Amino acid sequence: MTKHITGLHHVTAISGPPQANVDFFTKLMDQRLVKKTVNFDDPGTYHLYYGNRTAEPGTILTFFPFVGARPGVPGSGMASAYGYSVGESVFTDWLDEVRAKGGTVSDPAERFGQSVATVTDPDGATVELVAEPGDHGPAEGGFHSTTLWLHDLGPTQRLLVDHMGYEEAGHESAGGTERLRLKAPGDARGTVVDLYRADGAPRGQQGAGSIHHVAFRAKDDADQLDWRDRMIAAGMQVTPVIDRQYFNAIYFREPGGVLFEIATDPPGFTRDEPLERLGEALKLPEKYEPIRDRIEAALPRIEA
Ligand code: ZN
Repeated sequence: MTKHITGLHHVTAISGPPQANVDFFTKLMDQRLVKKTVNFDDPGTYHLYYGNRTAEPGTILTFFPFVGARPGVPGSGMASAYGYSVGESVFTDWLDEVRAKGGTVSDPAERFGQSVATVTDPDGATVELVAEPGDHGPAEGGFHSTTLWLHDLGPTQRLLVDHMGYEEAGHESAGGTERLRLKAPGDARGTVVDLYRADGAPRGQQGAGSIHHVAFRAKDDADQLDWRDRMIAAGMQVTPVIDRQYFNAIYFREPGGVLFEIATDPPGFTRDEPLERLGEALKLPEKYEPIRDRIEAALPRIEA
């Protein structure tokens, strides 16, 4: 069998003001805030990480909140959605609970034989809840999938299938739209990537409510370097390895325009604080510790 990606590591998005984002994901989506840090390239902005209780890869959703961010425009060339797995036996109760807490929830629709409901986050972005066997909520379930909105499915499909080990798992088309389901072998979280196309769709623009990039897992540094070689051989322009404190990262833009990352599982989010205290204190990389006072003074206050 050819080498394959095991699944998603994290998804990173852009939001508006951080407090609304924290409230929505911790209170309505039952996520744990597992890391509170800053954008390493712009320490005047938070970088917030949500995940399950133990902050495992495949459950991690991260945000760069910008207080005055302009809304993004959904369209081709970007990841347009991510989906959480929610247990079938609790699915309806879950939707009712989100509604009861003030969330905007769609009626479930069927997609590839599964019930999918969408919840709208405070920036108008779509959070999908996908019913799967079990009784887990969205935090413990972690990711089911991400959806890439593309002008042309072919080049991205070839990269994922021929070079990243994905397999075709379904195709639906209706009313000028097309959805191709790809799945990585195995039963890790976040094995599904849907490629979506809509006739005449404009090109997407990044802003609040947009997904900035999607990250796939590498099991360690050696595995990541092997993936780096493979992506270069596949014609991608790949960055050097970048230290992101909780994982090492490489980035490249796939042929359809979506920013992909491959991130290592280690060292993980307990690198600089114990599991039971994750997300409580503002964590900074070493280089910013000397200016911690200034950074803390400039950041908006948030309460988890
Ligand atoms: Zn990332």
